[in-house]
Amino acid sequence: MNKVTASGSGRLLQCAGHVRLPWVRENSAAASEGTRLHAIMETMEGKPLESEAMQAEPLALAAWGELAHKLLSMGLEPVRVEHEVAYVLDTATRTARRLTLTGPREYGVTQWHEMPGTIDAIVWCSHVETGEEIPFVIDWKFGMEPVRPDSAQLRTLAAAFMLSSAEPLDMVHTGIAQSNEAGAHFDFRGYSRDDLMAHVELLGDALNETHEGRVVLSRGPECRYCPALGSCPSQLAAMSVIVSPGGPGPITPERAGAIWSELKQAKKRLEAIEEECKRLAEAGDGLPLPGGKRLVSVQRTRASMDAKALEAIARGHGASDGEIETCRKITTYTTTQEIKA
Ligand code: SF4
Repeated sequence: MNKVTASGSGRLLQCAGHVRLPWVRENSAAASEGTRLHAIMETMEGKPLESEAMQAEPLALAAWGELAHKLLSMGLEPVRVEHEVAYVLDTATRTARRLTLTGPREYGVTQWHEMPGTIDAIVWCSHVETGEEIPFVIDWKFGMEPVRPDSAQLRTLAAAFMLSSAEPLDMVHTGIAQSNEAGAHFDFRGYSRDDLMAHVELLGDALNETHEGRVVLSRGPECRYCPALGSCPSQLAAMSVIVSPGGPGPITPERAGAIWSELKQAKKRLEAIEEECKRLAEAGDGLPLPGGKRLVSVQRTRASMDAKALEAIARGHGASDGEIETCRKITTYTTTQEIKA
């Protein structure tokens, strides 16, 4: 049984069965960049914002500055920050404890009913009028991918924070800080003790189900980054429907949207298979193919003109803007794009 961390909470609630399938972890470029920025946010603790190191990371700097500004506009003055605070939430005993990490997000041995996780930042604020100290559990997200405001991951971390607190808390304040080149966006919300306990109960039920050996698969939005995507029978069955003789059946306007999204998944799977075959062909002497052929790796050269360099040469010979414009070829074509409804 694979270990689920707080970041997999949404997937666990959608599809508990994924915990029992083989996982393949892929480290995407976006995930690596997110990890790098998280590390920078951590080092910002206690460092002057005008320092050279901070100025070299405008995205992280802007995100941090905007968070502080936003809290101040809500009458809350940030007074203390803890970064990368790790917890283990025990869904069986409904308790939680803080962890000391041995490495970046390395949680060591945990029980099947425990979920470790790391809070990106706990920002302790002082209410400017009452002086009350209010902690905010903050999840930093970098990149364009919008995060659900009621993120299951954040609820799990908020529950761990609540259950490990020395003082009883009836409410936990949370914030998702979504940051990218366009700026930072914040979603603050409070979760009551009852909300969070109900969430812990659902997580516990899902872990219990998988521990007892039940593998119930349920496809949905969380499939996209599922570590079991490559071994999931439910995904394979859906792909077979698309590529089988007769295909997905009549493509009507009512069904086309669902078929489109299945098609994208199927193409991704086929591309992954193709890439693996190419990798094997490159690594050895090629691959024997039916019919006496071989699939081999070859080097080809493709030449194209560098438009920018040509433009610079033309300008160097006195070409005017108007003359350069006559060389620009604009083609209008029709394509499709997924947009937010
Ligand atoms: S791909 Fe989707 S259905 Fe399959 S195991 Fe993962 S979450 Fe479940």
